[in-house]
Formats: sequence, C-alpha cells, structure tokens
Amino acid sequence: MEDFNDKNCLYPPHKYLQNAVFKERYIKPNISWRASYLNGKRGISRVFRIPFASLMKKFFLKSYFEKRVLQGKVDLPYLELVLTTKCTMRCESCNNLMQYFEPQKQYASTLQGLKESLEALFKRVDSIQRLRIIGGEPLLFKELPELVEYLEQQDKIYTFSLVSNGTVDFSDDLLKALKHSSKFRKVTISDYSLSPNLKIKREQESILRNLKLYKIPFSLDSSGENAKWTDPGKIYKRNRSKEKIIENFHFCKMPCVSLMSAEGIRNEEGKLKENAHALAPKGAIFVCPVASSLSRLKGLEEFEGDFINLEDEKQRFFDFYAQDFFKACDYCHDWSKPRKQIPIAIQSDTIFKLEP
Ligand code: SF4
Ligand code: SF4
Repeated sequence: MEDFNDKNCLYPPHKYLQNAVFKERYIKPNISWRASYLNGKRGISRVFRIPFASLMKKFFLKSYFEKRVLQGKVDLPYLELVLTTKCTMRCESCNNLMQYFEPQKQYASTLQGLKESLEALFKRVDSIQRLRIIGGEPLLFKELPELVEYLEQQDKIYTFSLVSNGTVDFSDDLLKALKHSSKFRKVTISDYSLSPNLKIKREQESILRNLKLYKIPFSLDSSGENAKWTDPGKIYKRNRSKEKIIENFHFCKMPCVSLMSAEGIRNEEGKLKENAHALAPKGAIFVCPVASSLSRLKGLEEFEGDFINLEDEKQRFFDFYAQDFFKACDYCHDWSKPRKQIPIAIQSDTIFKLEP
C-alpha cells in the first residue's frame, strides 16, 4: 500500500468506497470503460457471451477497482485533453464556452506544455482508461501527429480518441499517425450540415474519404434530419447557496473531466501574464469543459478547490472524485429544469459575456 497522508485526505482510502459520489463518478465508469476495453481491444468478447459471464465480469472488475483504491492506485476512468479553445466555428450554444473567448485571450497549448502536464499526471496516476482529444477544434493544433505518437507510447493510457467538427482536412502525417496507433479508438466527426447559418466550408466528404482510405475507425455524429440541440442557456455566476450548487451538480452528472496545460494565461490587454498559473504550474484537471473554460475566462483563483493541481498528492485525485461541490456549477443553468430545443450550431460573431 502506498503512503496516504490521511490527515490531508477527505477520507482514509476505505471510506471512499462508501462515498456514493465516488462510487458513481469513479468506480462505475472505471468498470464500464475497462469492460468495454476487454470486450473490444483484447478480443475476448466471446468469453462474455456465456450466460452470467457479463455479470461475473462486472463483479470481478468492481472488486478489482475497489482493491486498487485501497492500495492507493489511481485509475482515471475518462479524461478529455483540451488542446485549444480556438475553433473554426463559433456556435452560440457551444457547451465548451468557445463563444465567450475573445480572440487574444484564447487558450492554445503546445506539445511541450501538454507533455509537461501529462508527465506530472503520469507520476500520480496508475492508468487512464480512455482519453479524448478535444478543442475548440483540435485539428488547429499543429503538432497533432506528434501528440498522437506521444500518446501511443504512454503505457498508462489504455485507449484514446479524437473529436473534430469536420471543417479541417486531416494531414497525411496525422492520418499515418492514427493508422499506426494500436491504442487509437476512433475519430468522431460532428456533422453540422444542418446549421442554419454555417459560414465555413465543411470538409466532411474529403475527411471521411481519407479515413476510409487509411482504414481509421470513425463515426459521424449526426442526429438526422430533425437534429436539434438543447439550449445550454447563458453562463454566469448566479450566487446560489452551497446546497443549491451541489444539487445542480447532482442533476447534471457531467462525466467529462478535462485537463488543460498551464500555458497562455493572458491579462486584460491580451498579454501573457507571468506566474498566472501559480495554483497549478503544470496544469490542472477540471470537473468538465465548462469548468476548464471558466478557469481561463475568470482565472484559476476564482475556482480554488474545484480542480486538481497536477502536482497535488495522489489522494487529491480520490478527493476530487468524492466531492460534489464545484464553484463552477453555480455558473450553469438549473439542470433540474427542462430546456428548450434549438437549431444546431447557430453561428455568431458576438463575444458573449458571463452575465445574464
Ligand atoms: S464546433 Fe461549435 S460546438 Fe464545436 S467546439 Fe466549435 S464552437 Fe464549440
Ligand atoms: S459546471 Fe457543473 S453543472 Fe455545469 S456542466 Fe460542469 S459539472 Fe455540470
């Protein structure tokens, strides 16, 4: 068993296993991602066609991950790696808050910065079941082929995938890197053909042709002829009580934990600030992309306690998955209320403000 300083820990290790939030956010998704990994990648799905084998698998994985917690081993079920907040589109209802970023204040990571963040992470975690590369538009990240090669070499990553809005063609280098990766799962292309006012040319046909040519698995994220989005509403601080903020988190249950490197924090004039990331010099992990984007728009200090500093001790990872109070959840609309349906990907030139 590794050293756990119980004094600073929300719980001693065995208590995490009695925490309902931890079970929901950590144990359950670890079981489900590892089960899908074993079914697909390892090619042993036929074993689980035997009656009761699926139940046995879940039972076995549950006790496996619980034991790992007691041993102080950290297994991240799912992690989104945010490369940039820049996007070729500007959807006024972007769930990742791209519509709130001024051009000179965008987050743009570098391969070197991401490697520093991931290496700090690998010192503390024992496995990452599934990593997803996201943006903004991740194809705007020039070193994407090198990043794919780097991720492929990391023993602690089981599988990774990539999502793109289908407006930037894949380079030959990227296609080759994806084709040669044994851990790469699939490209998800979001189909925005039903956007009522799309201002940029879609490269979907050429991208899909190339993905087929290189035999790279992909899916087209298309919701059919009647495609609609659910209105995420405006994002701003609502000054709810702590209980109401926790309630909002429980209604939302967003599983998309996201990592941003410590790069490119800018001041009001758009100039890079020195020591701006003092609370997380190697980068941080947030509860969701709304929270990671908010940390850029408002500053990390505003959200102290919400995120994992990548240089934190191992037990902070368990604490993070056991907590249900995140200041960022005060900025979201009330998840208990129904939301209206809106056309997909409405484009806007406006830079939104974090206000009602
Ligand atoms: S395509 Fe639209 S929804 Fe997707 S990241 Fe860009 S702005 Fe956001
Ligand atoms: S900030 Fe909280 S309520 Fe909003 S999407 Fe993220 S987890 Fe959900």
